[in-house]
Amino acid sequence: MSTDHYDLIAIGAGSGGLSVAERAASHGARAAVVEAGRLGGTCVNVGCVPKKVMWFGAQIAHVLKDAPDYGFDLDVRGFDWATLKRKRDAYVRDINDWYETYLADSEVALLRGRGRFVEPHAIEVNGVVYTAEHIVIATGGEPIWPDVAGAELGITSDGFFELEQLPTRVAVVGAGYIAAELASTLRALGAEVALYLRGEHLLRRFDSMLREHLTETMLDEGIDIFPRTRLTEVRRGADGRLSLHCEQGRESAGFDSVLWAIGRRPKTHELNLQSTGVEVNESGYVVVDAWQNTCVKGVYAIGDVTGQAELTPVAIAAGRRLADRLFGGQAERRLDYENIPTVVFSHPPIGTIGMSEDDAREKHGGAVKIYQSVFTPMYHAPTRRKVKTAVKLVTVGAREKVVGAHVIGQGADEMLQGFAVAIRMGASKRDLDDTVAIHPTSAEELVTLR
Ligand code: FAD
Ligand code: NDP
Repeated sequence: MSTDHYDLIAIGAGSGGLSVAERAASHGARAAVVEAGRLGGTCVNVGCVPKKVMWFGAQIAHVLKDAPDYGFDLDVRGFDWATLKRKRDAYVRDINDWYETYLADSEVALLRGRGRFVEPHAIEVNGVVYTAEHIVIATGGEPIWPDVAGAELGITSDGFFELEQLPTRVAVVGAGYIAAELASTLRALGAEVALYLRGEHLLRRFDSMLREHLTETMLDEGIDIFPRTRLTEVRRGADGRLSLHCEQGRESAGFDSVLWAIGRRPKTHELNLQSTGVEVNESGYVVVDAWQNTCVKGVYAIGDVTGQAELTPVAIAAGRRLADRLFGGQAERRLDYENIPTVVFSHPPIGTIGMSEDDAREKHGGAVKIYQSVFTPMYHAPTRRKVKTAVKLVTVGAREKVVGAHVIGQGADEMLQGFAVAIRMGASKRDLDDTVAIHPTSAEELVTLR
C-alpha cells in the first residue's frame, strides 16, 4: 500500500471535516484532512466565533447605555472598532494554531491545498494523488452574491469580518440568521442600519412570536426595516457613498456599506464530482441518506455541503457519528436531524427548538395547545431602555407533549440547551410544571406557564 493511502480522508477542515477525522483517528483509523484555507472553516474564521465576539461587543454597548440607570456615572468617550477587531482576529488566529496542534496530537494528517476528485476513492491535492477507503466531503459553503448591477460594491458576511472601521450607515439585505444578527450588532455598536427584506417578514421560517418580537425590538432600537423591497442596482456616487435602487423605483442614498446576507451555497463546484458519480441536487447540495452516505459507496458528505440544518454542532455531530459507525463498531450510529436547537444571536437573542406554532397547527390541527408569556425581565426594571422577553411552548395532544419551545429575550441563548434535552426525551407540559423553578430568572417562565 502506498504511503499516500488513508483509511479516511475528509475534504475540508471545518467543523465537520475536523470532527470526522479526529474521531476516526481516535478509533485507530489512519485519517487525513485536506484544507485549502484556514483551519476551523467558516465557524472559526468567518462565522460563529468572530460573530459572537462582535455580539458580546454589542451587548456591552447596551449595558453601557443602561449603566446610568443602575447608578453608574460613566463618561464613555467612544468605541474603537479597530481594537475589537484586532483582539477578535488574534483570538481566531490562536484557534487556528490550536487546531494545528490538535491535529498533530490526534494523529490526523493535514494535507494543505485544494482537493479535487480524480476518481471516487482518489483525490488530488497540489499534484499528489491520495487514496482512501472512505472519503468524506465536508467542504461547507460560501455566501451568495445577488444578481444585481453593482453587487460587487457591497460585501457579504466574509467582508463584514474584514471591515477596518464601523460603517456609519449600512444597508443590510436579507431576512435570515445573518441579516438579523449583523443588523442588530451593527446598530448596537452605533451604525445607522437599514434592513431590506424581499418578503414580508424577517426570519420567515421561525415562530411568528419570535419574528414579530424581534422586528418590534429592532424598530425600537432605530433600525429602519423595508419589507417587500427588491433591489435592482447599487451605485457609487461622486461622494464615494453608495445608493440603492429598488424595483419600485425608490432610491436610498448615503450608505458607506451594503451587506448582502441572502443565504449561502454549497462549495461543490471545484470538487470535480463528475468523476465520482456523486449526486448533487439542483442547488448543488450533495445528496445523502440518513447515514451521510452519498450514492457512491465509500463516499460520504457532512455539514453545510449537504444543506441540512447548516449549524456547526450539526456538522460536528454528523462527522463524529459517521466515524463511530465506520470505525467504532456502532453500525446504527447516525445523527437524528429532529429537534435541533438553534440560537439567533440577534439583540435580544432567540433560542428555539422544534415546531413553530403555525407548523404544529398545520400538522396537528386542534390537538395543539399553546402556552406563552411576554414580560419585562428583572434586569430592565430600573432601566429606561425596556426590552421585553417572550416565551412560548407548543404542545400536542392530551399528554401535552412539548413539540416546540421558543424564547426571545436576554439570556435566551443560554436558556435553551437544557430544555432541548427535555424535549428530545419527550417531555410533557406536566414534566416542565413539575420541575421546581430557579428564581429569579427568565428561564423559570418556561416551567411556570399557565
Ligand atoms: P465549513 O466550516 O465551511 O468548512 C469547510 C472547509 O472546507 C473550509 O475550511 C474550506 O476552506 C474547506 N474547503 C472547501 N473546499 C475545499 C477543497 N476543494 N479542498 C480543500 N478544502 C476545501 N453555526 C452555529 O452553529 N452557530 C453560529 O453562531 C453560527 N454563526 C454563523 C455566522 C456566520 C456569519 C456564518 C456564515 C455561519 C455561521 N454558522 C453558525 C454556521 C456554521 O459556520 C456552519 O454551519 C459550519 O461552519 C459548517 O461546517 P462545515 O464543516 O460543514 O463547513
Ligand atoms: P438564511 O438561509 O438564514 O437566510 C437567507 C435569507 O436571504 C432568507 O431570509 C431570504 O429571504 C433572503 N434572500 C434570499 N435571496 C434573496 C435575494 N435575492 N434578495 C433578498 N433577500 C434574499 O441565510 P443566511 O445567509 O442568513 O445564513 C446562512 C446559514 O448559516 C443559516 O441558514 C444558518 O443555518 C447558518 N447560520 C447560523 C447562525 C447561528 O446559528 N446563529 C448564524 C448565521 C448563519 P426570504 O426569507 O424572504 O426567503
